[in-house]
Amino acid sequence: MVAQAGIPMHDIPFVTIGGGIGSFVTVDYLRIYGVPTSQMRVLSNIDTPWQTYEFLTRCSQIPRPERIRSDSSSRPDNIWGFPSYALEEAWREKNLKYLIQVGFLEPIFDDYWTPRAGTVFRNLEREAKRIGYWDMLIKGQVRMVRKRVGGGYFTVMNPPDGTSPTKRVVFRSRFVHIAVGYPGLKYLPDLQEFRQKYGDFTHVVNAYEPHEHVYEFLKTRPGTVVVRGGGIVASRVLQRLFDDREKFNLQTQVIHIFRTFVTGSHGPHIWMRRKGGDGWAYQGFNYPKSVWGGQLKAEMRKLEGEARRQKYKDMGGTNTPKRRRWQEQMKAGRAGGYYHPFQGVVERVEPTSDGKLVSHVRSNDGTIRQPVSDFIIDCTGLEADIAEHRLFADLLQYSGAYRNPVGRLEVERHFEVKGTASGNGALYASGSATLGGYFPGVDTFLGLQVAAQEIADDLAKRGFCRKMGPLRSTAQWFKWAFNKPV
Ligand SMILES: Cc1cc2nc3c(=O)[nH]c(=O)nc-3n(C[C@H](O)[C@H](O)[C@H](O)COP(=O)(O)OP(=O)(O)OC[C@H]3O[C@@H](n4cnc5c(N)ncnc54)[C@H](O)[C@@H]3O)c2cc1C
Repeated sequence: MVAQAGIPMHDIPFVTIGGGIGSFVTVDYLRIYGVPTSQMRVLSNIDTPWQTYEFLTRCSQIPRPERIRSDSSSRPDNIWGFPSYALEEAWREKNLKYLIQVGFLEPIFDDYWTPRAGTVFRNLEREAKRIGYWDMLIKGQVRMVRKRVGGGYFTVMNPPDGTSPTKRVVFRSRFVHIAVGYPGLKYLPDLQEFRQKYGDFTHVVNAYEPHEHVYEFLKTRPGTVVVRGGGIVASRVLQRLFDDREKFNLQTQVIHIFRTFVTGSHGPHIWMRRKGGDGWAYQGFNYPKSVWGGQLKAEMRKLEGEARRQKYKDMGGTNTPKRRRWQEQMKAGRAGGYYHPFQGVVERVEPTSDGKLVSHVRSNDGTIRQPVSDFIIDCTGLEADIAEHRLFADLLQYSGAYRNPVGRLEVERHFEVKGTASGNGALYASGSATLGGYFPGVDTFLGLQVAAQEIADDLAKRGFCRKMGPLRSTAQWFKWAFNKPV
């Protein structure tokens, strides 16, 4: 059928779809395991592996000089995690304090040390050049992956307009890996309704969209902003509002609505508690640290169905790190009468006759409040249902893939998508679409690397590459350290 339709076909043993951090770390592992660039292709609609991540972090107020959430040794450019980012920044910025913080003070006497976004991007670029990343990149929009009768898969892609004589090209491969990131933005229903009904995309914004105009407006006149959400993005947005208030001597009022207002330590039982207060649930990283390599990782690997779903529920929930600077800013805001946090569920948002917004908010005790603001910044949702991504919708419908206990794509412990085996081929997936599997930390740098290692080991078992042992790994580390090709 492919040949009859006149679609050009390329034979490539391994393709990874997405071209973000997840694809990058997977081909990084495979290059280090010894797979040549000629055997792999990255099919992606972006130019650099960090492009989407940088877009989302910049919108959510983490420009290059600011610090991200994950720790010093979560290095997507370095499969060994050594030397850590803290060592590198300490060397580069001649600042020994970073090493003291990471070695002795965090997390009790100081905040967790985390790297600057710019440090991550600079190192990704170095590693991408080292492994010949751009020799493997093919730009385009992937439409579907289907099993082949003869084993393996066909991947159908639309190349960018004007770059190919045909509208579609097909890749025939034994192995496919999917890491397409977030299926889309998820808007709160009342805000979605407001945007659709009034066609106003300026005053109600999502924190993951460009919304610099809000901060610019506030520099020109006193204004009120409603912030919604209790995660790290809400923390970042508050920091930006407070920083600007201080730097430019502004009068900005901040109303912060939490759907769930956390007042203290909480958790399912005494062994699993998280600190909280003033509305927030506090946690250094987005999961307890042991999911990446401790008892939760081991425990989760054994859980199926309802037991797994319950465990995700027990350790889930929106949370943010308790950073000293944020605590001080909020305290000053409460004392100064310009930061107003409270619990409530917003029932609807309407425009006022003078061009502002009124939110109708019902608190748990039944009280109704109607705060009026110039802007609403929604810091709640990034993740839409996986079926909103065409690729996953197609896999679920035609290729035997199915959902895990939390509704996303069910994968094996080695990240093969269950139900999609095809002859001697295998289809793998990692990243947020696979959350709910045997490994919870999958949508993080380190988690994507854990997945990549599982995939590389599985591919070694299937004969696609050599196994990695300690000697070869050490030799490869030296190549990494001296920036020599793999
Ligand atoms: C604001 C923010 C901050 C985060 N901070 C951290 C942190 O500090 N530490 C940490 O460990 N993790 C962090 N994460 C989580 C996670 O590590 C990153 O989101 C990471 O970028 C996920 O990698 P990915 O490959 O799954 O997705 P992405 O990096 O988003 O890449 C997926 C790519 O696939 C492309 N794509 C989608 N569909 C198609 C298609 N059909 N055809 C071709 N290409 C397609 C997309 O354009 C996208 O570029 C953060 C996430 C967000 C949103």
